[in-house]
Amino acid sequence: MAARKRGSKTKPLAEYERKRDFNKTAEPRGDIKPRSTRGLRFVIQKHAASRLHYDVRLELDGVMKSWAVPKGPSYDPAVRRLAMEVEDHPIEYNRFEGTIPEGEYGGGTVMLWDRGTYEPEGGGGEEALRESYRRGDLKILMHGKRMQGGWVFVRMRRDDGGRAQWLLIKHRDGFADPDFDVTSEVNTSVATGRTMEEIASRSRRVWRSSREPAGTPDRTPPARRKVPRAPARKPATARRRSKAR
Ligand code: MN
Repeated sequence: MAARKRGSKTKPLAEYERKRDFNKTAEPRGDIKPRSTRGLRFVIQKHAASRLHYDVRLELDGVMKSWAVPKGPSYDPAVRRLAMEVEDHPIEYNRFEGTIPEGEYGGGTVMLWDRGTYEPEGGGGEEALRESYRRGDLKILMHGKRMQGGWVFVRMRRDDGGRAQWLLIKHRDGFADPDFDVTSEVNTSVATGRTMEEIASRSRRVWRSSREPAGTPDRTPPARRKVPRAPARKPATARRRSKAR
């Protein structure tokens, strides 16, 4: 699709790349990916960094828009969860489960807590998502294993660094349930069934899906796959680098 617009002032993924030393972390390098034909993807990663939080990521314009949600999502529509917007992540990050070395940016254990597809609540495709993201009122339907039904991200304000603070709130719909404490009841990886402790103790690398034990409850991500670089993106990468600092 030719006329893909990106609203951001900086080059895509520049901040993501700047924060990481890819010789030290097994996190994926960034690439801009075309939209999935099966719908826009989302992922939520439980991340035991210096503080535990949940990283909620929504695919838009070839990257994953990302928020760090300290307490994670709640199915209680009366509960508003703080969601701090962080740098866009590459779509390959959706398969990342493992450990980021201590001392590196975000050092700690990462679990794939949920994944699936999402869409704008009122229809209208990516253009509607772009517009509501820009407006700071992003109403979506999530089709995950743990995240289902309507949710809204509402932008509140920006901090001194220009970083936006949002609230993540469950819509009142058939999935809403004030008595369902999803973050305490769901403690395993959606991809491998592992707990945080199991991921921390057994993973040294990230792309270990083909080595998971039998009987994992869910389809694991594809085994170690070389992610092809898109040659057409080389110039963009060079431009990103030059703006990186
Ligand atoms: Mn994180």
